[in-house]
Amino acid sequence: MISDPLLFVATSDFAGRTRGKAFPVADYEKRSSRGVGWTPTNVMITCFDVIGKGPYGSLGDLLLVPDRNATVTIDMEDGGAVERFALGDITDLEGNPWECCTRSLLKSALERLRTLAGVELMSAFEHEFQIVKTGQTVPDAYSLRAFTKQRRMGETLMAALSAAGLQADTFMAEFGPNQFEVTNGPALAHRSADHAVFLREVTRMVAGRFSERVTFVPISNPTSVGNGVHIHMSFVDHTGAPKTYDPGGPGNMSKLTASFVAGILKYLDSIIALTAPSDVSYLRLTPHRWSAAYNNLGFRDREASVRICPVTAREPDKIQKQYNFEYRAADAAASPYLALAAIVHAGCQGIEEQLSAPEITQEDLSVLSDTELGKRGYGRLPTSLEQALQKFEANAVVRSWFPPCFSSIYTAHKRAEIAYLGDRDTSSRCAAYADVY
Ligand code: GLU
Ligand code: MG
Repeated sequence: MISDPLLFVATSDFAGRTRGKAFPVADYEKRSSRGVGWTPTNVMITCFDVIGKGPYGSLGDLLLVPDRNATVTIDMEDGGAVERFALGDITDLEGNPWECCTRSLLKSALERLRTLAGVELMSAFEHEFQIVKTGQTVPDAYSLRAFTKQRRMGETLMAALSAAGLQADTFMAEFGPNQFEVTNGPALAHRSADHAVFLREVTRMVAGRFSERVTFVPISNPTSVGNGVHIHMSFVDHTGAPKTYDPGGPGNMSKLTASFVAGILKYLDSIIALTAPSDVSYLRLTPHRWSAAYNNLGFRDREASVRICPVTAREPDKIQKQYNFEYRAADAAASPYLALAAIVHAGCQGIEEQLSAPEITQEDLSVLSDTELGKRGYGRLPTSLEQALQKFEANAVVRSWFPPCFSSIYTAHKRAEIAYLGDRDTSSRCAAYADVY
């Protein structure tokens, strides 16, 4: 059949969806400077495709400009179409970053870190997802049997991720029913968030080739575990030297790491609306689900919001390179750009405020009373999206990290999403999100 190859240029928007338009690959030169037309009101399209009330109405024009360095071509070699898509920035017609472009918001957060601390962020997003199946599931946590059933898909996924420029790391059957986890190597600055979008979309594409459907929904069944996104972070200076580790620091954190993590924890309740932004995210963020429920830093503790990860290297220079911490209160309803932008700003705020290292926990905080928690500076994280939005709105410091219009647009978008759900029960809320993520 005749065919003219198309390249889809996309943004990862406030809904955490990957949306855009396609143009003939032959037009790449022209489009790499002029982009494709984009509409401001698109930022109000919720994950359920209901348009929230925003300031733009039918007015205005923008450009969505593909980034050559974030362009992916994957030939699955199965006789099907070659996948081609690019991530891009949204600009105004003069080429200035648009106030609601998530990728540009992340770039400016990373610029703040660069200016403030002279370091680059290295990060990697670890993803869990489930294969959508009907009928009864069999107990198969971490099993070879569950893995074997999906070996072909896993192997195609590894190859497709490599073709997309990611260092594919591991693929495993996770604890939950039909749950899998895929990890990839770290990347510098905003590239890790590009990779997170690639990973989600490429996983969907590969699953489609096997006639399977996957979902990265934060939680699909409130009686089971959720699908987390854990964001691993470390710092390097302009020579590439690691700056995260100090063998003399608490938990081996350098001073920079300690203040950055302290900033995340101080502002966590006010940024969580950006990192765990769906109504059902808060069913996942409950104790004993190995997600995150309190504003604590844990040493190798999978219930902590921020966890100091184990190091397997033995040589001092390798230890320094490998040492990293992870933010666990995120999920795939969040655009990776917005989630990381919020975390980086909170970390920068911690550096600016010269916050000292947080206490490191190795215990179950859910057994403590609110008073005991409060005495030690801990609190339960917001338990609903509405509560999280209110915390965000009420925090002038957090709002100041973003353009002036951002908070009202973001919260209006999210409230339209909540309104769409109406009085549905919990399982139908989970199902609605499972359909879109
Ligand atoms: N499923 C857990 C979450 O929702 C994470 C389990 C793990 O430690 O990998 O974050
Ligand atoms: Mg996991």
